[in-house]
Amino acid sequence: MFEQLATPKGDPILSLIAEYRNDPRENKIDLGIGVYRNDAGITPVMQAVHDAEALLLANQTTKAYQGLTGDEAFNEEILKLVLTESQCKRAIALQTPGASGALRMIADLIAVTAPGSTVWISDPSYINHRPIMEKAGLTVKTYPYLNAETRLVNEPAMLATLESLGPKDVVLLHGCCHNPSGADISLDSWHRIAELATKNGFLPFIDIAYQGLGDSLEADAQGLQVLADAVEEMVISTSCSKNFGLYRDRTGAAIILSKNKQIASNARAKMCELSRGSYSMPPAHGAAIVHAILTSESLTKSWRDELDAMNRRVNGLRSALVKAFREKTQTERFDYFGQHKGMFSLTGLSDDIIAELKHNHGIYIVGGGRVNVAGLKESEIDTLVEAFIAAGA
Ligand code: PMP
Repeated sequence: MFEQLATPKGDPILSLIAEYRNDPRENKIDLGIGVYRNDAGITPVMQAVHDAEALLLANQTTKAYQGLTGDEAFNEEILKLVLTESQCKRAIALQTPGASGALRMIADLIAVTAPGSTVWISDPSYINHRPIMEKAGLTVKTYPYLNAETRLVNEPAMLATLESLGPKDVVLLHGCCHNPSGADISLDSWHRIAELATKNGFLPFIDIAYQGLGDSLEADAQGLQVLADAVEEMVISTSCSKNFGLYRDRTGAAIILSKNKQIASNARAKMCELSRGSYSMPPAHGAAIVHAILTSESLTKSWRDELDAMNRRVNGLRSALVKAFREKTQTERFDYFGQHKGMFSLTGLSDDIIAELKHNHGIYIVGGGRVNVAGLKESEIDTLVEAFIAAGA
């Protein structure tokens, strides 16, 4: 049966990781894979996660099935993290295997409820948005997003496209910390999108995978909350991979906001029916950790403090990059590093420059030029800036 299958081409990010690992140079820098690292180059287990895990180990009495909706206390808590109190009253969350699971469950829900819908994703967008939506059977189109000159959002072009959409359209927006560009939508534009969604009837679909890694937990959810106040229906995928550091524990949620809780619950029940046809139930461990943290005042404080410190580190690196580039180039060409939010910045570097940075300087950047600022050490900034300029960036 499987003889007909061709050997697949290697995944570009995974092969970059392997190349980096095998590179003997001591001063090599990995800016590829999208994980947060501290200044020692480690992706740490957060202290609150350690503490919650210890509690779980001590108190867990069973590994029996939890049910299709996962951990209901987690679902309640995650809702409160993303939405305002009044929005929570007409919304419901479904625990999923990471935000990836949420993206797919929401896509499946749209495909069965409104077949023939088109999902509009930003150009560029998270590398898995298109395949996840297409595998659910949805048509995918792109709206303009990035201004290639400024490296910031081309809001007039984005809004002009959204203006032309209607009830058969779904608009997928990054809640904060846009991946791969780092360029976020202004609050004014969130208001404008809210007006357009209400007037034209398209469904807003918000993917928020980095809440707390832009400005703060509250500020990062502001845009989507503006939208949620205005529209009758909206869907959200959210992730605990980055802000709780739970990457491999596959922890996330699909949120449905509707006219009332009953309609939202019906949509969630439909997603459960669909998940039964694939992974059935989400894994328990990560959600149990998040539940333990968010229902304990002291663990919540510990988690928030550490998240804020991670956020400060990334923003500090961004400011240091801007300063170093200004000094080196006597221009403001690289100021976008300071204007971007979250872990990534899309540099727009050509393939040739990316190759030269790897070969001559041991600096590893994925094709397309996305730099994981959160993977940088402070001590590497001058080397990075020198190498960028030497390579002709
Ligand atoms: N959405 C975006 C924008 C992402 O960058 C990612 C990857 N971190 C995901 C969704 C998937 O997240 P998860 O690891 O929780 O599945």
